[in-house]
Amino acid sequence: MTIADCIFCKISRGEMPSEMVYDDGVTFAIRDIAPAVPVHLLVIPFVHLEPLAGLTPLGKTALAHCWEMVPEIATKAGLESYRLVVNQGADAGQEVPHYHIHLLGGGRLGKMA
Ligand code: AMP
Repeated sequence: MTIADCIFCKISRGEMPSEMVYDDGVTFAIRDIAPAVPVHLLVIPFVHLEPLAGLTPLGKTALAHCWEMVPEIATKAGLESYRLVVNQGADAGQEVPHYHIHLLGGGRLGKMA
């Protein structure tokens, strides 16, 4: 997967449609195309980051900003109670390698896997 092929990079460049709910130039959030719960957002750094290990200082800063903005994005979406999930690797069900946080809410959630 290259940055040119990456779905989330394409969305961030406006080359693919999405329902963008937040954008501050470092972090953006979109509605998941296949929501697993009533409110299913993806919080994503603009910079293409893949592995959790070996992050550059720029990558660490971008990720920290994503996590910092989660409460504001959740509040904007009307969520007081929510679950945050990061899938890392194929066995965890990760489909898109570009780092992203699933922000899940909008009702009573089931137990974790
Ligand atoms: P993961 O399985 O953790 O890699 O999550 C990837 C998520 O991206 C899945 O929940 C997909 O439904 C979602 N997704 C894939 N393509 C798009 C898209 N074009 N717009 C919004 N969400 C997408």
